Amino acid sequence: MCNDQISSHRAEDTDPESQVPLREIEFQFPGNQHDNALYPALRTDELVEVKFPIPGTGAITVPGKCGEWISIAACSMDPSHYKQPIKHSCDCGSCPSCWPRWGKKASKRISSRFRGYRDTVQGQSLFDGVEDRIWHKHNAKYLRHIVLSPPSGIITPDMDITKIKKQGRKFASSIGITGGVLIPHLYRVKREVWDTLMNGVLSSTERTEQKRKVVVWDMIRTDALHLGSWDLYCYWAPHFHIIGFGRIPNQRNPIYLKRKGNWVVKVVETIRWDRKYTGQDIEDPVEAIAFYLLSHTSIVKGRNALSWFGICSPYNLRKEGSPVCESYPVVCPVCGSTVVIYDGSVQPWGKRHDKDGHEIPYRIRDYRQHYVFTKNGHTFVTKWRDKSAGIMA
Ligand SMILES: [Zn+2]
Ligand SMILES: [Zn+2]
Repeated sequence: MCNDQISSHRAEDTDPESQVPLREIEFQFPGNQHDNALYPALRTDELVEVKFPIPGTGAITVPGKCGEWISIAACSMDPSHYKQPIKHSCDCGSCPSCWPRWGKKASKRISSRFRGYRDTVQGQSLFDGVEDRIWHKHNAKYLRHIVLSPPSGIITPDMDITKIKKQGRKFASSIGITGGVLIPHLYRVKREVWDTLMNGVLSSTERTEQKRKVVVWDMIRTDALHLGSWDLYCYWAPHFHIIGFGRIPNQRNPIYLKRKGNWVVKVVETIRWDRKYTGQDIEDPVEAIAFYLLSHTSIVKGRNALSWFGICSPYNLRKEGSPVCESYPVVCPVCGSTVVIYDGSVQPWGKRHDKDGHEIPYRIRDYRQHYVFTKNGHTFVTKWRDKSAGIMA
């Protein structure tokens, strides 16, 4: 492998998303399977065909339109205080420009569905039989993030994504996970690459570990180290992330140990339910972890990356009617003024006005969905515990 080629490859590129200074680094990966004389010269500026691509590594859906600024939301007193571009998005998971909105929408739906289940089983008292009621109330109490890693060789690159996900769901149910969402990860990042990228991100402004990890995956997606393409940062290491309900049995439980076999089960954390409106955004811990996990899942032509199962599956938990929308005004974090819509196409930016000549305040919308839960032929409808303040529930 010619390291000069790698370090100079697309050296003019910068990474606008991460705002992390990129260094030219020479890498030597022992046993790199892409190590041949043709690489990377032939791959320059070409999309790499990978069977299980991560989000944002496909072609731009509508060149010239995807990612284009429609308008800007900025502080009404002084736009330099706070500004947020409002971009055109195709909402497609494969689009390098628009995948974040795909991820954001999907993670909001994930959060909404979990809350739907919790509120359905905790908010009503019509369950048939005390046992069911207690079981569900108890079950819905803790939402956990769990990682399931199969023994090597069980999941291979020649397998179909549907079959891969089925393996994960089957195993999850067998060890006591009662329901949730399964997000497959088919790759892990090479150790030396991860350390290098993480070191760069540590100096950035991202506060939480999770947000820094999102940035690292962004750098992989945009080929920040100029290796040639995202897949060269990773190796095949299929595993499943679960956000879901249920208790992992005691490690000494012989039935559990038998079912577990050579799989590795790791309970990462219990996820907090509380949501908070910050003035600029709604912070939702369930949504945040879902977004991070979706940022490097696999998306295969039209097929959903994620998979619902158990008590959260569409069979048991169905949407009922249209969602109810609540909206919150965005305020400037510097001076507290209203954030309004500007037209960014002309310099200096001008504020947009509605037909009555008023400035247009920028608001964040939050949707709440009613669900119907059906189990053993009995149907239960959501009753929200707090109808007025969605973000507080
Ligand atoms: Zn797009
Ligand atoms: Zn301001």
